Amino acid sequence: MDNAPTTTPQSGTDLLEWPVIGRFLRWRYARPAMQLPLLLGAIVMVAHGFVGPQLAPRNLASLLTWVHYRGVLIVVLLVAGNFFCMACPFMLTRDWARRFFKPALNWPRWLRNKWLAVGLLVAVLFAYELFDLWGSPWWTAWLIIGYFAAALAVDALFKQASFCKYVCPIGQFNFAASTFSPLEVKVRDTNTCATCTTVDCIKGTRHPDDRELVLQRGCELALFQPEKVGNMDCTFCLDCIHACPHDNVGITTRLPGSELWDDTRRSGIGLFSKRKDLAALAAIFMFGALLNAFGMVSPVYAVQQWIATQLGTTNEVPVLAILFVALLIVEPVLLMGGAALWTRRATGTPEPLMPIMTRFAYALIPLACGVWAAHYGFHLLTGLWTFIPVTQAAFADFGLPFLGEPLWQWTGFSTGAVYPLEIGLISLGLLGTLLVAYRIAERDYPRRARRVFIPWAVLVVVLWASALWLLSQPMEMRGTMLGG
Ligand code: SF4
Ligand code: SF4
Repeated sequence: MDNAPTTTPQSGTDLLEWPVIGRFLRWRYARPAMQLPLLLGAIVMVAHGFVGPQLAPRNLASLLTWVHYRGVLIVVLLVAGNFFCMACPFMLTRDWARRFFKPALNWPRWLRNKWLAVGLLVAVLFAYELFDLWGSPWWTAWLIIGYFAAALAVDALFKQASFCKYVCPIGQFNFAASTFSPLEVKVRDTNTCATCTTVDCIKGTRHPDDRELVLQRGCELALFQPEKVGNMDCTFCLDCIHACPHDNVGITTRLPGSELWDDTRRSGIGLFSKRKDLAALAAIFMFGALLNAFGMVSPVYAVQQWIATQLGTTNEVPVLAILFVALLIVEPVLLMGGAALWTRRATGTPEPLMPIMTRFAYALIPLACGVWAAHYGFHLLTGLWTFIPVTQAAFADFGLPFLGEPLWQWTGFSTGAVYPLEIGLISLGLLGTLLVAYRIAERDYPRRARRVFIPWAVLVVVLWASALWLLSQPMEMRGTMLGG
């Protein structure tokens, strides 16, 4: 096999060896134990979204979704790993439903890529701006219900984890960010796998007398442990850990982002360098981060007004559509295409631009992580404690005032206190992206690495500077008391 993974025992800390956390994660019901509180939380949020006050900062549906969930999500992804997919409540209801509905269909072959999911990720970003979702508890509640329904519908019809792998926009966001996570689900010793005959980690554990009866699922994301590389497509569901009869799968530490310059063939994915859809996901993850931040600073209104005047319309749909096409298609194609053209000149090869853009797109992920973390971290920290009074008020709304008078004075950090952190996060992302870009240049052009690196360094410095500019603008305090 090309570029076979290493066959040595893995080094690094293994989370499963930690005293309390490790014991908990090895527990068969660890995942449902994390999913259940989030499911209950989602039910409370939906209920409050429908019957609570329709003022976003005072409603649990909008506040927890757009301030706390997003902020904690990106923090956990960057300091640990994909624990939100692990604790995903949509998969809990889907697992319950599958006791009654056995999916019979395989996901269509022509859809076994990320194009649909990337399109849905863009659609969610578009809907967020068009419907001002952060400001509407009612629409946010419907969004949560729609998400549960979509996961149920897809996975009731299609086998394996089709929704997670091919549809879920949140999942794709998590997969992209988790390539920069410090933890990874990984075999402990590939020598053990080499002599393994059952491969339960992918096939699942069957009953010894009834082979049709699956006692423990194998990987539903089609990631075969001995050939799995990195976090892409891994939901941290723990199935492979429970299924492996040799206790040979762990959650180990690694250098964050190192998988981004690793072009080893990956189980269930193939080669990063050949996956245009994954490269598009990386690019949307980067340029979407800038677009999403741009949507909440004052200059966006001037730009939208200008487009509306040129079109002679008051309809927001075509205005937003132009903005999205400009910032998510035209801008990436021009900037990345320019860097690829420069690369081609530097190497003196007639290589087409698309493969160059595809290979270097993954380098954008660390900077994108920095921008998302700075943006969502800003909302999280400036509204950090607001969930306390809003929860108190929500229970009072439900006729259960036992949490006492809402502590409305509890808000969060000042914007001035958070700003240095934002700068730090974006700048750390820049350093990560520069490192990955250099390692990719070194890998693909060992004799001209420095010359090839320059255009990509220029590109990411431009993106970093634009992110700094965006975050230095006065921000809309979406969904927080300060903006309410
Ligand atoms: S079941 Fe365990 S030992 Fe066997 S291939 Fe999978 S991870 Fe390796
Ligand atoms: S079963 Fe697959 S998706 Fe789940 S943790 Fe293991 S590798 Fe990741």
